[in-house]
Amino acid sequence: MARNPIVREMMKRYTQIWALGHSTAVLSWDTETHMPQSGARPRGIALGQLAVMSQKATIELDGLVRKAEKAKDLDQTEKGIVRMLRRSLDYYLKLPPELVEELQRVTTEATVVWRNARKKSDFRLFEPHLEKIVGIERKMADKLGYQKHPYNALLDLYEEGFTVRDADAVYSRLIPETKKMLAKVSAAGVFPSKHPLESVKYQTASMEAVNQAVIEMLKMPADRFRMDVSTHPFTIGIAPDDVRITTRYEGVNFKATLYSTVHESGHAIYNLGIGEKLAYTPAWDGASYGVHESQSRFWENVVGRSREFVKLVDPILRKNLPFVRGYDDESLYRYFNTVKKSFIRVDADELTYNFHTAVRYEVEKKVIAGDARVSEIPSLWNDTFEEYLGMRPKNDAEGALQDVHWSGGSFGYFATYTLGNIVAAMIWHKMKDGALIAGALQKGDVAQLKEWLGTNIHRHGAVYAPKELQEKVFGEAYNPERLLAYFDRKFMA
Ligand code: MG
Repeated sequence: MARNPIVREMMKRYTQIWALGHSTAVLSWDTETHMPQSGARPRGIALGQLAVMSQKATIELDGLVRKAEKAKDLDQTEKGIVRMLRRSLDYYLKLPPELVEELQRVTTEATVVWRNARKKSDFRLFEPHLEKIVGIERKMADKLGYQKHPYNALLDLYEEGFTVRDADAVYSRLIPETKKMLAKVSAAGVFPSKHPLESVKYQTASMEAVNQAVIEMLKMPADRFRMDVSTHPFTIGIAPDDVRITTRYEGVNFKATLYSTVHESGHAIYNLGIGEKLAYTPAWDGASYGVHESQSRFWENVVGRSREFVKLVDPILRKNLPFVRGYDDESLYRYFNTVKKSFIRVDADELTYNFHTAVRYEVEKKVIAGDARVSEIPSLWNDTFEEYLGMRPKNDAEGALQDVHWSGGSFGYFATYTLGNIVAAMIWHKMKDGALIAGALQKGDVAQLKEWLGTNIHRHGAVYAPKELQEKVFGEAYNPERLLAYFDRKFMA
């Protein structure tokens, strides 16, 4: 309960907004997991109405938020709550409703066109729609306001306070260094580019048993957490004691579903660890997209793709998947850590992943600034990709058309994947260059890792902005050197 009477009043009224968000979350989860196809239309109407109600209720808090912003005696938590409400208000008050409505309309149509354009691998079909979307995004940047670069306004929507300057600093270190490492790793052949297990089929039921055992190993609390199946895996925080993930079963190459389960569990561990006093407040959230992704990447990559983790899952795999019995732990480790340059981001491994986000970052930055035209995107994409990875997409489907995000109007989002990788490596560094992680895993003690993350990161929720949180925990923010050091230790040793 807040001490400050203005914040207390604000939180009393916020309960209504929270309830709308809670309902939206349950409906969204159901949409992806259980809803029959024809439920889509009424579901869309209901979700649209809930969004309108939530926006209205948030705007009504503007007066109280203004008062609270002037108060001098707020504690950290109260300041965090007020800051988060101001972020929502900025979005609702600065963007004209017609613009938001236009984006909604244009992207609904564009998503259908994009799907067809990708199938035909023809950017020209998608171009007029993307032209409109970019126009709206640029208007949004103007309305939201920015310093120096219009793209900063869009980056800030996903990663508070993160700018073009920060991103340039990250990528200008990461890209050339990782390029050198990749050349050495490919030449050495210790981390193979393919593995026989990638083409082995599995029974869904057996893999369900593996994933179930893995979430038990990660000590996911059965009374506060559940796992279902959906086309695109995700995590959703429905309430402090109701956090859900999904996974998917493709029937082949079992590491895909295994790591999607571990990845989403990482997101869920974050949500489950947010401090109790933040429940039902706008600070019951992750600090940012990048920090949230750091938690999933930490569990998926730093923990999940380590030799110690292979030892832990080994008995689970051998019990449920007869075909792994012919492979020892070292071979499983190599299967989990294949390194292969690919055109498609979602197929990328730890070492090549950041090239993909860098390509999109460069393209978005130029297009939003007006330094490149939408019609130039395919060649700009392919040139940048070739510069980074030394190979050129043969068509638009494996180039600029590969991801759905632009058709939905998401500009400024992709860099947060790389920020997730960087912050995960900052945790690795802080845990004595991984020694504490290895030690805990050798004892099979994931609780120790969860406790570290909980104390340092999770319990704070969104009380601190992402840079502030990192400064507090690590004494630095978005430091690419930590990721390079982690790569060096893992891949170059
Ligand atoms: Mg994720």
